[in-house]
Amino acid sequence: MIIVMKPKAKEEEIKNVCRVLEENKMGVHLSQGDEVTIIGIIGDKKKILHIPFEQMEGVDRVVHIIEPYKLANKNFNPVPTVIDVDGVKIGGKEIVVMAGPCAIENQEMVTNTAKFIKECGAKILRGGAYKPRTSPYSFQGLEVEGLEYMYNAKKAAGLKMVTEVIDKESLENALEYTDILQIGARNMQNFKLLQAVGRTNKPVLLKRGLSATIDELLNAAEYIMAEGNSNVMLCERGIRTFETATRNTLDLSAVPVLKSKTHLPVIVDPSHGTGKWNLVAPMAKAAIVAGADGLIIEVHPYPERAMSDGDQSLNYDMFKKLMEELADCAKIAGRTL
Ligand code: PEP
Ligand code: MN
Repeated sequence: MIIVMKPKAKEEEIKNVCRVLEENKMGVHLSQGDEVTIIGIIGDKKKILHIPFEQMEGVDRVVHIIEPYKLANKNFNPVPTVIDVDGVKIGGKEIVVMAGPCAIENQEMVTNTAKFIKECGAKILRGGAYKPRTSPYSFQGLEVEGLEYMYNAKKAAGLKMVTEVIDKESLENALEYTDILQIGARNMQNFKLLQAVGRTNKPVLLKRGLSATIDELLNAAEYIMAEGNSNVMLCERGIRTFETATRNTLDLSAVPVLKSKTHLPVIVDPSHGTGKWNLVAPMAKAAIVAGADGLIIEVHPYPERAMSDGDQSLNYDMFKKLMEELADCAKIAGRTL
């Protein structure tokens, strides 16, 4: 439920409504736009249904929200969220590109890759130190050693970094190094992990589960936000369908759908979304035109030698070319790169 105040509602009138809500033990979320103030209400609305809010001074109307997610809901907070990662703004006019290897393999490769992607205009280094692999016999990541390599690389290149956490231990370790915490597709509904990242002050990149609906993704974001962390960005990374021509089916319509339902920034991962390097560029471009706020792309100096996801990784030349081409797509979308 939200209470929409009149365009010229006085500070006092807004405070008065909030006071009544708090007296009734409801959580209050204020969204103060240029024109109107919206008071979002969190809690069991049955307890306040008898209160005639519409009769109170300054109140325009009461709107019942049917979706179970509130803090992530655009009706609750119509102002787009811009996440400031130490100066890099995600969700603003500028498209933000995150790039790097699937997994951190050694210091040299990650530092080289970081410097190269920075030269091409990327702002954030991606890379996994904890890899949730389908097979227990596949490379599982370098863990803390990998975090250290990645931290050195991002510092040397002047980038921010995003890395995946898979449990409490990896979260505690990553907090010392990373700027953004990534929740992978396989953990999108690991509710305890979502709550744990929700209790940190680091921005979160939340990836859509392999067979998760858009509403389930938004409810997962709500788990994080309900703990107090509102810096959540959502990532479309492809879903399971009957199609076998691609690793996953990149659901690009999720971008405008999400934009219609939430104020949170939306990122697209065309690498995991397709599983094939030759499909990464066309889908990256389409994602920008569809309204994505950013991209996360796998780049490896020698994809044929990569310890994971070589088939979907761009080499340096391909990434450079893509970054040049993306500038025009950003322009079409009314954005900059
Ligand atoms: C990744 O980004 O490295 C990754 C494992 O992605 P996803 O969780 O989307 O499979
Ligand atoms: Mn990968």
